[in-house]
Amino acid sequence: AVVTRFAPSPTGYLHIGGARTALFNWLYARRMGGRMLLRIEDTDRERSTQGAIDAILDGMRWLGLDWDGDVVFQYARAERHREVAENLLASGNAYRCYATQDELTQMREQARAAGKPLRYDGRWRDRDPSDAPAGVKPVIRLRAPSEGETVVDDAVQGRVTWANRDLDDLVLLRSDGNPTYMLAVVVDDHDMGVTQVIRGDDHLTNAARQSQIFAALGWEVPRMAHIPLIHGADGAKLSKRHGALGVDAYRDLGYLPAALRNYLVRLGWSHGDQEVFSTEEMVAAFDLKAIGRSPARFDFAKLENLNGLYIRGAADGDLVDAIERILPNVGPERGLVAPLAPDLREKLVAAMPGLKERAKTLIELLDSAYYLTAARPLVPDEKAAALLTDEARARLAAILPALEALPEWSAAATEAAVRLFAETEGLKLGQVAQPLRAALTGRTTSPPLFDVMAVLGREESLARLADRIT
Ligand code: GLU
Repeated sequence: AVVTRFAPSPTGYLHIGGARTALFNWLYARRMGGRMLLRIEDTDRERSTQGAIDAILDGMRWLGLDWDGDVVFQYARAERHREVAENLLASGNAYRCYATQDELTQMREQARAAGKPLRYDGRWRDRDPSDAPAGVKPVIRLRAPSEGETVVDDAVQGRVTWANRDLDDLVLLRSDGNPTYMLAVVVDDHDMGVTQVIRGDDHLTNAARQSQIFAALGWEVPRMAHIPLIHGADGAKLSKRHGALGVDAYRDLGYLPAALRNYLVRLGWSHGDQEVFSTEEMVAAFDLKAIGRSPARFDFAKLENLNGLYIRGAADGDLVDAIERILPNVGPERGLVAPLAPDLREKLVAAMPGLKERAKTLIELLDSAYYLTAARPLVPDEKAAALLTDEARARLAAILPALEALPEWSAAATEAAVRLFAETEGLKLGQVAQPLRAALTGRTTSPPLFDVMAVLGREESLARLADRIT
């Protein structure tokens, strides 16, 4: 059975590239009827934080990417990693290296002078450990093959080869006894039964190194798929400016998880020219062969359009629920707290069919519902304030008694009263309706004015008008 894993390092938020890697691993496992495991690679003790772990788990839950079994924490497995390093030593596939910092510095400088990366020269490979200088704590290095090639048969990159003479004897265990990332990944992937690795192509060279360790241990190498990184719309490596935000930031910007999933799956993977995928469709169609080899470009406008589509397709109550979930973060600056008062909630649900036609994000949806959520006195936006001239306010004052006198408060009744007033005064309907809208909603656009008046009710409508008149 297929076993994939998502293996983030908890040194920052779950960014958009990591989320896509998680999604691909999840889809592949689901597609193949297999399992996706989650491993937190927290071996960098200085940079790993609990906050980052929480952000990763929250982000995955929000995106609906559930993992199988318990989360594996890499650092907790250090003892096992040490044991494997000792086994490699015992089998002759690894050796202790006593090269001093000075010697390594010298090697690094020589390499730099030659314009090459540091390459350990193997000086302890065949040396008798009894030569070991006093006071130097050794590292354990892999006795990597010095001839021939290392080959990675990659589902995305194809067959990639390295000349073994270009790969030096990498460190497995540091002098303080801590395993290196390279060793830890191999041991964990093996012990977790991982059959398919899917990760960013920045790890491609690591795949060669890791293959050598797998081979030295006599373990089967998992199948590999290294996916091109995500670039910004301008083709440069993705940065914050391009949208390299944490998944939590997308949540608070008002994106729906289904829309983000749909957007992410198309970043590097295609299925004909289909753009819109339900989760079931994604699972049914996903396949490693259709992952492209060139970097995908992040396109905010496309994400927004997809999100708008998902908003229009969502149930009204679900949209209000989704808004409510982000209120703790986005509510306070709008004077709103979660949970919503039941009557406000009800009004929001009722208003959704009109509002969701135009909104691309939940935030736009929330802001377009300002006329419902706002507390008196309203703060008109700039355009609305500009409409509320002295003349316009005088008109509002003049129509107020007619509205107050209405025996019944409905969209039809208020419309009839406003039309009659405009006619009697020799005004166009807009000359009355626009200031009314500005006063009642604080905006120059809103759902149909008389529907707004009906939803707000007599008392609130009249009070809002009175606020503007005095
Ligand atoms: N922890 C690595 C990272 O966050 C991923 C390692 C892997 O997938 O093998 O980049």
